[in-house]
Amino acid sequence: MEEKRDFGDLEREVIETGKCALCGGCVATCRLLDYGYLSVDFSEERPVIREGQQCPPDCGYCYYQCPRVEKPELREGIEEMYEVVSTDEGIRKACQDGGVVTSLLAYALDDAMVEGCITVADKGEWKPEVQVAMDKAGLIKGAGSKYTPAATLTGIADAILKYDLWSVALVGTPCGMSSYEKMFVVGRDTHNAHNFSSHVRLRIGLFCLGTYSYEKLMKGYLEGKHSIDISEVTKLQISEDVLHVYAGEKELLSVGIDEIEGYKRDGCKVCEDFAGLFSDISVGNVSSPAGKSSVIIRTDFGKDVFEGAIERGYIEAKPMDKSGVDLIHRLMKKKKEAGISEKERRKKLMEQLK
Ligand code: SF4
Ligand code: SF4
Ligand code: SF4
Repeated sequence: MEEKRDFGDLEREVIETGKCALCGGCVATCRLLDYGYLSVDFSEERPVIREGQQCPPDCGYCYYQCPRVEKPELREGIEEMYEVVSTDEGIRKACQDGGVVTSLLAYALDDAMVEGCITVADKGEWKPEVQVAMDKAGLIKGAGSKYTPAATLTGIADAILKYDLWSVALVGTPCGMSSYEKMFVVGRDTHNAHNFSSHVRLRIGLFCLGTYSYEKLMKGYLEGKHSIDISEVTKLQISEDVLHVYAGEKELLSVGIDEIEGYKRDGCKVCEDFAGLFSDISVGNVSSPAGKSSVIIRTDFGKDVFEGAIERGYIEAKPMDKSGVDLIHRLMKKKKEAGISEKERRKKLMEQLK
């Protein structure tokens, strides 16, 4: 019989080998199992275990649910792509690229489909903070990409244990979506984190080319190298391989992402998923005109939510043209190939060092 793994194995195989996506799935699972031994050390950008803690011999769920130990299996789905914009001017003004995620969440809340939405807000100086938003003001606080890691799945434990919610929407990067899928599948019939994790009703994945170390990007690069006062920044946006930094209407910096490649997290370099394959709905800013978002419907449930939001007047959509669809497919392929190639490079390096 295979020896049961635990957090020590997760550290050795995933965290210390630079594969951790900092999705927060292991931390959430441990909390949902009522142990709560794990937390996120944001200065080191990694999950850590409470000092001196001994794990029960029959646990190990943090290891088995990690999407970097073994990828979840992709279920059959659909793939319909649209250009979409929010109909709410307030949301459009406050949000990035059409305000579509915020409007879909507003619809899900207003329709009582979910009681809360797990998103990432700015807790000051662009430090990401996972929040459970329960109204439009909370949703707007969580709008816009942060580009530094947030451990979003810890919000599942907050929603259930802190706020006692039974139905939530989860918004996050593709690694968060695959981690939730793994949490759900591994937990099924084996431990109570499954029952807890099934409180997630709606999964909205955000297109992602990578996240960056907070200290290196925000402090070292923006503040140190470019003398930007981070507290003045109102929007960060990566589009068409360019990072744009804004303070209100004023653009403070525009730089090719090649220049910040060195600050990308190691765990992102082995990532193969650009467009959130494990989401109900994926949203991003490539392939659509400025002020609109690209949306991919991936599940029947996602389609119901999307069509409901159109019928109730929250969003407007038109099918994406072929050139847009092709561009998204090219980016999906490119990221998958880059992730595989980086994994192979690391494997060869390890073999040489043996
Ligand atoms: S990838 Fe996610 S689940 Fe795996 S170790 Fe990192 S934070 Fe934990
Ligand atoms: S083995 Fe169990 S108790 Fe130990 S850190 Fe992992 S989930 Fe928590
Ligand atoms: S590149 Fe991958 S691992 Fe990194 S944040 Fe995006 S989805 Fe997660």
